[in-house]
Amino acid sequence: MFISVLDLLKIGIGPSSSHTMGPMVAAREFINLIKEYYSKNKSSQKLAIKCTLKGSLSATGKGHATDRAIVLGLNNYLPRDLADQDVDTLIKNIWGSEFIEIDGVGSVMFSAEKDIDFDTGAPLPEHPNGMIYELLSEQGKVLMSETYFSIGGGFISKIEEIRQLVAPLKMESVDSFPFPFDSAQSMLDMSKESGLSIAEMKRRNEITLISEEKLNNGLDLLWLSMQQCLERGLNTQGILPGGLNIPRRAKQLHQQLLEQPDKSDTNDWLCAYAMAVNEENADGHMVVTAPTNGAAGVIPAILYHFTKHLAGTKAQVREFLLTVSAIGGLIKHLSSISGAEVGCQGEVGSASAMAAAGLCAVRGGTPQQIEHAAEIALEHHLGMTCDPVHGLVQVPCIERNGFGAIKAYTATSLALRESGKHFMSLDKCIAAMKQTGEEMSIKFKETSLGGLAVTITEC
Ligand code: SF4
Repeated sequence: MFISVLDLLKIGIGPSSSHTMGPMVAAREFINLIKEYYSKNKSSQKLAIKCTLKGSLSATGKGHATDRAIVLGLNNYLPRDLADQDVDTLIKNIWGSEFIEIDGVGSVMFSAEKDIDFDTGAPLPEHPNGMIYELLSEQGKVLMSETYFSIGGGFISKIEEIRQLVAPLKMESVDSFPFPFDSAQSMLDMSKESGLSIAEMKRRNEITLISEEKLNNGLDLLWLSMQQCLERGLNTQGILPGGLNIPRRAKQLHQQLLEQPDKSDTNDWLCAYAMAVNEENADGHMVVTAPTNGAAGVIPAILYHFTKHLAGTKAQVREFLLTVSAIGGLIKHLSSISGAEVGCQGEVGSASAMAAAGLCAVRGGTPQQIEHAAEIALEHHLGMTCDPVHGLVQVPCIERNGFGAIKAYTATSLALRESGKHFMSLDKCIAAMKQTGEEMSIKFKETSLGGLAVTITEC
């Protein structure tokens, strides 16, 4: 398996990679299908678009702004186009329209309020995050339809793709890469045989597809975007949208730490940094999916702390991001990074394992210590459910990223004090996460039907 670092970590907008970014990408793809259809079936009759959301997308889509994302996608936007835009104003301008203007097709009827169906019936059997897009005639006849699945991290699959796969992936076969590791063990074996670090093997795989310059520029842009997002979060206050009236806390916490550094410790700084990112995400602003939006605070928090407090260099930032993506690619390949598939262990748990590996690499850890650090961080997230209150990526998500960063930091420290030899391998830990996710009740997989989501009093 191979997934590029520039696909696993990508610039987009909040609040959710699977419920915001994936549906937006699918909507935009459906527009391209309509163009293709129309070029072969030109007609003067009025056309209309309908979208039906299934499973977790219908259960928590409102809180995750899935409808807003679909409207943006149908209006030809992709997540990365929105990174520096005022999304709220953009939405205000297009939300009430009864038509979508499609290049080469003309006006197609679509109302955000009436034509997105949050279908709370049974989910599609293939995957919990299903969406059916339909092109209808004036009389309501279905002229063309496509079913998409949002499989986590902003990736989508069509129905024929998802049926061919044991686990829903969007990756390339390893055959053409110099280091075709598809498990943590094969990664360690190849590292030992070649004498190369995990980051260097990942780099050599990447530059079989793109130039080294393009790769470095991409890594630098990711880091710049992570910093911009985190610092915007540290400098913004107010109430988060969605109706829970949750105030932003990162700015105030950060202020306290700056004023009383002697009373602060690493945990405090990591929480402030991670929460700053996740407050930006909850506000629907620009964020780097790492590896999902709900878990987007862990990796930047660890890296920001490393560069600000431990004098990390630009070269180390690149090494960190390459190591992070090697581990994230393994988890995505062998299990899942989606809360709707395996619960929060796959989101914050994966982010924590990735961050631990990255930090261990730049602090001089051996490949064995890096694998150990990732395993420790993931192990202590096993079984963690996804139960966001009101389907908003706020409670428990924002604080949880702070704790994911703290666990990553602790996992690295522990791994660096040992030889790298350890009892439970990362491969076995990922397998346990997959099995735990399969046996987890649907109530705890991003449906907001269990856990914290149902213990609050409705009013
Ligand atoms: S609880 Fe975890 S998996 Fe669920 S939405 Fe929040 S961060 Fe994502």
